[in-house]
Amino acid sequence: MARDLGPKCRVCRREGLKLFLKGERCLTEKCAVERRSYPPGEHGRGRIKQSQYLLQLREKQKARRYYGLLEKQFRTTYEKASRRQGAPGENLLRALETRLDNVVYRLGFAGSRAQSRQLVRHGHFHVNGRRVNIPSYGVRPNDVVTLRQGSSVEQLVRDATDLTASVAPWLQADHEGLTGKVLKWPERDEIDAPVQESLIVELYSK
Ligand code: SF4
Repeated sequence: MARDLGPKCRVCRREGLKLFLKGERCLTEKCAVERRSYPPGEHGRGRIKQSQYLLQLREKQKARRYYGLLEKQFRTTYEKASRRQGAPGENLLRALETRLDNVVYRLGFAGSRAQSRQLVRHGHFHVNGRRVNIPSYGVRPNDVVTLRQGSSVEQLVRDATDLTASVAPWLQADHEGLTGKVLKWPERDEIDAPVQESLIVELYSK
């Protein structure tokens, strides 16, 4: 499975905000955005000529990196989402949000999306009682996500739940039993993503 293995804090600095890619470290003062809030590289503090295209591109890159997808996966997700009924931008965010790796993270069972993807990939989670090891698997309302009984990562998952301040309103989490339920499809105002999806639609509609 292809993954972006580049430096994560650099990505946050490029986008100019915290994307929470490193779990616990993101909550500490060691966060690179807190310490150096300018873009990385030799010309990071120089002036950049702004254009509409640049805004659209940065917004797309931000969303892609926030959810930890490579370009091709992100584009495919957009194309599928734009064929559904409704606003393409909202459909895109809903599709990204209901990926199993994101749901495991939103339920508080992992410290970061990268960790949650690895946990899913290694088969530690069940959906409706069946093992699912596909991070892009799309959950639906009433699906139940559970940590596999006897899983070797139970303590790690419990530690992650300790860091969780809140759970998305369209999900219900039981941190004692390490299970979660999808209550409904997420509405746009329930998706906590620092993204202006209309700019992504504009970019891909060119
Ligand atoms: Fe981003 Fe986390 Fe690194 Fe801060 S610590 S720059 S939020 S990945």
